[in-house]
Amino acid sequence: MKVYESIVIGAGQAGLSASFHLRKRGIEHLVLDANSHPGGAWQHRWKTLTMHDVHGISQLPDMAVPRNVDIARARDFVPGYLGSYEELFNLPIRRPVRVRGVQDHSGLLEAVAETQTFTTPHSHQCDGHVDAAVHPVLSRRRHVHRASTPYR
Ligand SMILES: Cc1cc2nc3c(=O)[nH]c(=O)nc-3n(C[C@H](O)[C@H](O)[C@H](O)COP(=O)(O)OP(=O)(O)OC[C@H]3O[C@@H](n4cnc5c(N)ncnc54)[C@H](O)[C@@H]3O)c2cc1C
Repeated sequence: MKVYESIVIGAGQAGLSASFHLRKRGIEHLVLDANSHPGGAWQHRWKTLTMHDVHGISQLPDMAVPRNVDIARARDFVPGYLGSYEELFNLPIRRPVRVRGVQDHSGLLEAVAETQTFTTPHSHQCDGHVDAAVHPVLSRRRHVHRASTPYR
C-alpha cells in the first residue's frame, strides 16, 4: 500500500498554494481534484461575469496574475491562470477524482474516492465552499487542515 506524505483535496487557489508550499518543503504529496479541468470554482462562474466585475484575485505564490482586460470572462481568465500555474510548477494533480470522505485507518487517514483509496498521515482540505464538502469521519482531527476562503 502506497502511503503519501500528504494529500491535498481540491485544486483551486487554496489547493495549488498548499501544493506549492509542500513541494518547496520537499514533502511528497498528491492533489486530488473533482473537476476535469483546472480552475477550481472559477470555471463554473456565469458567462457574463467579467474581470471588471471581479474585485481582484489573490496571487498564487511565485507567479504574478497576468494583466487582464476588463472584458475578459472570469470563467476563462482565472482558470487560464491556475492552469498555467499547475503547468509551470508541474504540480502533482490527479483529476477527475472526487473524494467521498476521509476516515481513520490504523493511525493513518484514508481519502476514499470512487475507484481508489489514498492513504496518508496528513490531509489538507482545500475543497472550497461551492462544491460538496468532504466530511471527515475521524476519531481525532489533528492531521486535517482545512482551507476556506470567505466569500468577499
Ligand atoms: C459567486 C461567487 C463570486 C466570487 N467572486 C470572487 C471575486 O470576485 N474575487 C475573489 O477573490 N473571490 C471570489 N469568490 C471566492 C472564490 O470562489 C474564492 O476566492 C476561490 O475560488 C476559493 O478558492 P478555493 O481553492 O478555496 O476553492 P475552489 O475554487 O472552490 O476550489 C475547490 C476545488 O476543490 C474541488 N473539490 C471540492 N470537493 C471535492 C471533493 N470531494 N473531492 C475532490 N475535489 C473536490 C473542486 O472541484 C474545486 O476544484 C467568489 C465566490 C462566489 C461563490
